Amino acid sequence: MTGEITQGQPPMPEEPAPEEPVRYEQRGAVALVTLNRPRYRNAQNSAMTYALDAAFARAVNTEDVAVIVLAGAGDHFCAGHDIGTAGRDVDVSFDRQAVLWWDHVGKAGADARYAREMEVYLGMCRRWREIPKPAIAMVQGACIAGGLMLAWVCDLIVAAEDAFFADPVVRMGIPGVEYFAHPWMLGPRFAKEALFTGDRFDAQRAYQLGMVNRVVPRAELASATFALAERIATMPPFGLALAKRAVNQCEDLMGMRPGMDSVFGLHHVAHAHNAEVSGDSLAGLDAHGMKNSGTKNSGTKNSGTKNSGSKAGG
Ligand code: ZN
Repeated sequence: MTGEITQGQPPMPEEPAPEEPVRYEQRGAVALVTLNRPRYRNAQNSAMTYALDAAFARAVNTEDVAVIVLAGAGDHFCAGHDIGTAGRDVDVSFDRQAVLWWDHVGKAGADARYAREMEVYLGMCRRWREIPKPAIAMVQGACIAGGLMLAWVCDLIVAAEDAFFADPVVRMGIPGVEYFAHPWMLGPRFAKEALFTGDRFDAQRAYQLGMVNRVVPRAELASATFALAERIATMPPFGLALAKRAVNQCEDLMGMRPGMDSVFGLHHVAHAHNAEVSGDSLAGLDAHGMKNSGTKNSGTKNSGTKNSGSKAGG
């Protein structure tokens, strides 16, 4: 987290507070939660995960917040999990929030990896998906791997025309990120293409797939997102919460939750396989390696992509 600087113009004009991995502000009935590691294209370390969780909790507990907007500072929404920045904190303990499990720190092998990923990746994403207030992801630039997880847990996604999406982790021998919503978000056919190639797809393609709600010019991203948020904010809060829960319950009846549980096992078989054959759960690939192993069209032209670490991460 140290030494970060803001690059370019954040999509939301706020004074940068680079030491904070997540910024929180309220605009009328809308809470704006901003990923704030623009130097690393908002790669998610654990500090960011817990700051994000705290921001969402604050929005839920603030009576006059009706809708949450999740944004990324700088030119990119989120390049994924932190697998190689100076602020990578895969071996740091945090007060756990998402699942009742022991701390991964001090554990070895799959014991550590499972504990950490169940908490900071799958558990957190599920917790955030169940927030009883509507959440809108406001996406520009890269939305890669772990970045997709953050966009997908939101109820709606508004994308700028320059947004692009990818889950390239099959390059690590891993069958997709931990929050395995791919078949439900992309449809089974395109989910396979996205995973098999690791290629990026653009906002227009995501719109055609039904993955995003709106595609707007970059210059109109904030205004379009806030207009939608403010419109939703006029609806009765309890009605919104029930409507959100209704769709989520049906999505789970369509198999999403048990599907994710079963795939989480495959994900950890892949990590364990990598650790067994190469000594590294990410198959020796950091963000740079992911970039170089991709094609020219890959979605990994970013500073951080998936996952963390040789020990517990990834
Ligand atoms: Zn993993």
